[in-house]
Amino acid sequence: MTELTLAGVAKRYDGTAALEGIDLTVRDGEFFTLVGPSGCGKTTTLRTIAGFESPTAGTVRFDGRAMDGVPPEDRDVGVVFQSYALFPHMSVAENVGYGLRFREPPDGQTVDERVRELLALVDLEGMGERDPDQLSGGQRQRVALARALAPAPDLLLLDEPMSALDAQLRESLRRQVKRIQSELEITTVYVTHDQAEALAISDRVAVMNGGRIEQVGRPQAIYREPATRFVAEFVGDNNVFEGAVRERDGDRTRIDVGGETLAVSAASVPPGADRVTVCVRPGALSRSAGTNRLPVTVETSEFLGETVRVHGRWNGTEMILQLPEIPDDDELTVGFEPDDAHVVATD
Ligand code: ATP
Repeated sequence: MTELTLAGVAKRYDGTAALEGIDLTVRDGEFFTLVGPSGCGKTTTLRTIAGFESPTAGTVRFDGRAMDGVPPEDRDVGVVFQSYALFPHMSVAENVGYGLRFREPPDGQTVDERVRELLALVDLEGMGERDPDQLSGGQRQRVALARALAPAPDLLLLDEPMSALDAQLRESLRRQVKRIQSELEITTVYVTHDQAEALAISDRVAVMNGGRIEQVGRPQAIYREPATRFVAEFVGDNNVFEGAVRERDGDRTRIDVGGETLAVSAASVPPGADRVTVCVRPGALSRSAGTNRLPVTVETSEFLGETVRVHGRWNGTEMILQLPEIPDDDELTVGFEPDDAHVVATD
């Protein structure tokens, strides 16, 4: 088992900064996810941990040991990529056995025993003799996972392993990956651009943007207390209003947003901040809430089954509402209570 640390890690390609000042610790046995939009540096971080890239600055450490100059095959990591990268001319069992080319099976097992154990772990018992092209996409990705786990690595690295699969399969595979990870208690770093997947699967999440980490935290904290506007908007739907702190009055603070006033809880306003961003989740806006009333012009409504997502505009700002029914009027008023707003200092 391994604790992973990155200290001041930076990576430049011909003058382009792919990563800057990455500091993070992934705890022993933790399921840790790097999430962020395309190009934010997730894959570069993962490849640097695996040893496929060397950092331009900073150090990667496994249990305190600096990995500078240690090649990937000596790092004790298992890697699963987005594409299955299985060998088509080898059977499923041979593909899993290929994971043992640098290392003996653990606990004195034979290669056959280890391969059988791994195929059982990923629910592919009895499929060892098949060719990869006789498997579904989800099954192939489980073979890739079994191959990565075969040498009993200290660290498991997964780079968008589900992005080629359809939504339903992704959900079932992600539950399986989570189950296997907790069974093995293996320190895992998972890369995805899908924030919902990151929240669902992880012990902790790092949200990345432009080669930097914006916030690290448990999924609940990332969702409920985003540290920056970027995190507030990237993780789940959010309504964000930029404004200026106008007046502090007991446990209420009034924020001036483009000539309108919103009341928020004084405790939620970062001390000393003048310019702030008020964030209100769609679910916190209701037609009955009273303190802040916002007349919204409806633009589109999407029926999602359980709820309706309404896009509209208030005071020049785009709004997202979550309503029980499609509104029958283009003008409607929603409200929120001061305690339902989360406030961050504007960058
Ligand atoms: P995606 O979700 O699209 O895979 P990502 O978050 O994984 O994106 P990276 O692949 O890590 O992002 O890329 C980070 C930045 O580094 C991007 O601007 C990318 O263009 C750049 N980059 C990555 N690899 C190289 C390379 N080999 N040469 C030059 N630039 C690179």
